Amino acid sequence: MSSKKTKKKGISPKQKEIDEEVIKVKRNSYSKKLRYAVLASAQIRQKLIEMGGENTIDVIREFDKDMTDEELAKKIAVKASDVRVVLNRLHSYGLFTYTRVKDKDSGWYTYVWRLREDKLREFAQPQQEMGEVAEEYEGEIYYCPSCQPKKFVTFEEATVGEFRCQNCGKGLVFFERKEE
Ligand SMILES: [Zn+2]
Repeated sequence: MSSKKTKKKGISPKQKEIDEEVIKVKRNSYSKKLRYAVLASAQIRQKLIEMGGENTIDVIREFDKDMTDEELAKKIAVKASDVRVVLNRLHSYGLFTYTRVKDKDSGWYTYVWRLREDKLREFAQPQQEMGEVAEEYEGEIYYCPSCQPKKFVTFEEATVGEFRCQNCGKGLVFFERKEE
């Protein structure tokens, strides 16, 4: 334990040590084009919100390079704890990974988050295939946002199942047909 007093205006030596470790982590940059293309679809936005909560759109839109949850929180002006909730949920879907940096004294970790652009790209693709499958159905159709492969149910079938996925129990999503 250090007996030295920390200067009021400065950051603590411990925090400085973590920051130095965090700086050493290599940061990747991400394509704005891909992120914006994915977010341009109302259907994908809806799915992302179901996966990670309402802050998901801001998180993905502003994730231009690897960053800690604190940095991201500052960037999108959302509480760090809320940002962590989103990142952890998206991590469970494989959309984000992280590098942990451990503080030797406290044992606490700082996380530098990474976006899986390949996953994000994959994520955008099934929507096109769905459009083709959807043509085989008439009227309103619904699907489960979580289950793979995607399967459509008719309005009647959805009603019987009270608009829940018969496989996982999640709420079904209305499939928006593209007007051509
Ligand atoms: Zn399901």
